[in-house]
Amino acid sequence: MMLIPCPFCGKRNESEFIFGGPVVAARPDPNAVSDAEWVEYLTIAPNPLGPVQEKWWHARGCGEWLTIWRDTRTHDIVEAPNGSE
Ligand SMILES: [Zn+2]
Repeated sequence: MMLIPCPFCGKRNESEFIFGGPVVAARPDPNAVSDAEWVEYLTIAPNPLGPVQEKWWHARGCGEWLTIWRDTRTHDIVEAPNGSE
């Protein structure tokens, strides 16, 4: 069980939340990048090992969206890495 800290409700069970996916880089302008960079953006999903910024929806709580940092190695909610926020 993972406890997710909602800024409005406090730490709640992950079963109250719906995963919204990782926070990803903004969509590049296809006319400003190379074909290889565009294909990479469209086809390669980042799957880093370590702290990842993710969106979660507190669907069975306050209904707000929140962003957390989760370490993919341990599932621990962690502080933002230095320089990330
Ligand atoms: Zn909440």
